[in-house]
Amino acid sequence: MGSFLNVCIYRIPLEGSIMRPGSTCPKCNSKILFYDNIPVISYLVLKGKCRSCSQPISLRYPLVEILTAGLTTAVANVFGMNLLGGVYIIFIYILIVITVIDLDHMIIPDRLVGFGLITGIAAIFLGAIEIGWKEAFMGSFVYGGFLYFAGMVGKRIFKKEAMGMGDVKLGAMMGFLLGWKMSVMSLYLSFLVASIVGLTVIITGQLSKGDRIPFGPFLAVGTVLVIFFGQTILEIYLSFMTP
Ligand SMILES: [Zn+2]
Repeated sequence: MGSFLNVCIYRIPLEGSIMRPGSTCPKCNSKILFYDNIPVISYLVLKGKCRSCSQPISLRYPLVEILTAGLTTAVANVFGMNLLGGVYIIFIYILIVITVIDLDHMIIPDRLVGFGLITGIAAIFLGAIEIGWKEAFMGSFVYGGFLYFAGMVGKRIFKKEAMGMGDVKLGAMMGFLLGWKMSVMSLYLSFLVASIVGLTVIITGQLSKGDRIPFGPFLAVGTVLVIFFGQTILEIYLSFMTP
């Protein structure tokens, strides 16, 4: 699956088919043989270079494969190999693809957001997740609405596009599957992680003036954290609230 997600990441922004043709080297176009296409292992065997032209292969490919394997294992352990686990797996795969595409191209393809929304609708329809339609729509409204509002305020303050419509649509999609409570928590965690990373790149001087940081990856990280730890965080929070 990690390998397949890499193909999606590479081909979806180019509007190409994700099914065919087979994988080729982007530099020399030679076909990648099946034994050179084994996740992580082939990267190590080939020492990160194309067999024909020695063009370096991005470290991103094995990293996406490892991340996919890790999160798949985590979902299977936490939620089990059932409908709920299946829904979260698909949802997380979509978020991985969106994250890397946003980092590369600063865009969030509509068809991926649409696919995520269909996953959410199917999950409620099949009764895989506990939230109902009303909560899902409220989640969508809260998540998307807040980002839209934050974008407006950001535009006023920074005098340039701070939050794209892609982020708003992504938020509305994630909010649908999370429901409004978990949407609020995901937003909070996203902004928290974004400010930590933002401060770090500013302090270490890796950010030059006028650089844009895509926000989609932070939203995705906040949402994945909520999927795994949302319930626990909520319980801890409530235990402080009740005397
Ligand atoms: Zn090559």
